[in-house]
Amino acid sequence: MRKILTGVLIFTLTLCLPLFAEVTVLLDNEHIQEYRGKVGKWMRFATKNQFDAEIARISTTLPEVLRVNGTDNIRGLIGSYSFIPYSEKYCKDLEAGGIKREAITCKEDQFIWPVKNVALLTSVFGIRWGKLHEGLDMPSPRGTIVLAVKSGKVVSVGYAGGYGKEIRIEHRNNFITRYAHNSVNYVKEGDFVKQGQVIGLVGSSGNSTGSHLHFEIRSNGIPLDPLDLLPENELLHVKKSRLKNWK
Ligand SMILES: [Zn+2]
Repeated sequence: MRKILTGVLIFTLTLCLPLFAEVTVLLDNEHIQEYRGKVGKWMRFATKNQFDAEIARISTTLPEVLRVNGTDNIRGLIGSYSFIPYSEKYCKDLEAGGIKREAITCKEDQFIWPVKNVALLTSVFGIRWGKLHEGLDMPSPRGTIVLAVKSGKVVSVGYAGGYGKEIRIEHRNNFITRYAHNSVNYVKEGDFVKQGQVIGLVGSSGNSTGSHLHFEIRSNGIPLDPLDLLPENELLHVKKSRLKNWK
């Protein structure tokens, strides 16, 4: 009898496990972001005075700011984007003001959309102008935040000809995701990023006619149709008729 019960229990657990494998993902926004395990925000200061004033107001100590950004020289942080970790007090102030990150639940190992609220794709995966367009084009205003679709390791950051400023992230099971035409790349090669973490900003760098994110998913080097792997997007379905080459 006991053996049968154990068998039933194991069988039930096996059935239930995939259902329970859900994770909570925090989505970075314009106010609260994450980098190298710290909560703060990517910011750019024109002068050292501005930098000092803002650090005193919202951040931790200067050595910690330098450490998070992997530098020992403050000069490198002026004029370009650096990550400013928030002090505990400033985190509490934000919380008191109702500013927080959206928490979503998704199945473990599921991709999320790299840009929030995508309602239109100007190009989908498929043959375009006689050659394969290997991803999705998501029109978005310049400066829209780009999120890591899954946790992984940044394997390249830089300028890639027609793709402009781009980032590639390697994920479990030999998946690589690619984010192109950015205006700013925040992360650095070798960084480990969390799903939902901001990695850069949308732009129109490289061979691009307007501000948009070109997004690819590859498996063992082979480009896949991201629409087969991204979660259902109700906003997008509304505008299905506007897709140029919807299959
Ligand atoms: Zn494209």
